[in-house]
Amino acid sequence: MFLQRNRDRLLILGLVFSLSWTPVSAQDASWKVGLAEAKITPDMPVVLSGYGGRTKPFEKVAADLFVKVMVLEDGNGQRGVIVTSDLLGFPAAVAEPICERITKKTGIKREQILLNSSHTHAGPAISLRSVPKDSPGEAQRTIEYTRQLQDKVVEVVVQATKRMEPATLAHGSGVIHFAMNRREFTTDRIILGVNPRGLADRSVPVLRIDGADGKVRAILFGAATHGTTLGADNYQLCGDYAGFAQAYVQEKHLKVQAMFMLGCAGDSNPYPRGTMEMTKTHGKTLGEEVCRVLQTKLRPVTGPLRIAFAKTELPLQTLPREKVEALAKDKRHPQNYAAGQMLAVLDKGDKLPTHYACPLTVWQFGKDLTLVGMSGEVVVDYVSLLEKTLGPNQLWIAGYCNDVFGYLPSARVLSEGGYETRGLYSGGIGVFDPAAERVVVETVRDLAKKAGRQLP
Ligand SMILES: [Zn+2]
Repeated sequence: MFLQRNRDRLLILGLVFSLSWTPVSAQDASWKVGLAEAKITPDMPVVLSGYGGRTKPFEKVAADLFVKVMVLEDGNGQRGVIVTSDLLGFPAAVAEPICERITKKTGIKREQILLNSSHTHAGPAISLRSVPKDSPGEAQRTIEYTRQLQDKVVEVVVQATKRMEPATLAHGSGVIHFAMNRREFTTDRIILGVNPRGLADRSVPVLRIDGADGKVRAILFGAATHGTTLGADNYQLCGDYAGFAQAYVQEKHLKVQAMFMLGCAGDSNPYPRGTMEMTKTHGKTLGEEVCRVLQTKLRPVTGPLRIAFAKTELPLQTLPREKVEALAKDKRHPQNYAAGQMLAVLDKGDKLPTHYACPLTVWQFGKDLTLVGMSGEVVVDYVSLLEKTLGPNQLWIAGYCNDVFGYLPSARVLSEGGYETRGLYSGGIGVFDPAAERVVVETVRDLAKKAGRQLP
């Protein structure tokens, strides 16, 4: 019954599939890759994002921030664009206009674009509207910076499409040990702390892109822990551990474009955390591991590239007004902010939204690799849920893609409570229903099937 109801939801509630490929046999699928990057370090005093309570602008640049682009093209001309960034996250309001402009300029469609962010909490705030807690001047600078950022991303993608060169792809993976589950169980509630027995995805997926001369051109790598080595007291701008890891790899492999793609880091923090020194140490640790993996025998990745994309309507909880009022009063409750927004909607006499449209994407590289691009701050449970439904091998699961609307908790996390149940904080209003998990898993399975992954 439960399953059936959700299947119906999947069919009825605007599951928009887009598929992007032309049939091609594996042997004539040789790759081309176009690369470009741009510095996005703010040149004006903007506020940092990720922690509440930091309202003054950054004081110092500890390391530059970048947006980096890799355009992949298989032997039949099918393209896919990966954008990585030293930023907290692209909300839909910022990401969608970027994609529209890319489509206009290059013909590359929305579903062929994947925007990822490292979720650094030492980066600039991103917003196209003024936030009440900011002073008018600061809000205006944030908007100005965000517009410049949008221009740059479009520019860099266009640049990369003009630099397409023959390439080969290979995949491998490593491990890091500084990713720590952060859902600490205390006697009365779950706090943001340290949970050594909790799950964390410690894998380090690596995609190596070689030029026709056999030399490395680019390295796309991942990890799955928050960009929060630096805490709320930090006013130095940098890409946190992911920024330092990219810099380390580029130092060791000169002229290579190192790109970081964040995984299911929703309930994981780096460990230990709190200082710039620790941030650099974690960056070096990850960078060294990526370099070690590059020395091992990697698995060749052939085409064709097949991309399936959907904006899936995920169910939100329907809460009675009394419950919303109680949550809006309870300052300690993780859903306090979401409840305040919900109450404002109700007070205007409007109805609360029942669903949130969540982008999900699957990129299938021949028979060799499946990249799942999930939106939001995805908790680690989705790694095992997707491994179960898609099979565990040749699988790369990224979170924080395309729309960072808030956390994407699992049914387990929702039932337990804690910070990751706080609800939507950007572009939507509400708290996910536990049934959202099944819709996500079934949609990803559907997308993977359409993209051509062999399912168990
Ligand atoms: Zn976060």
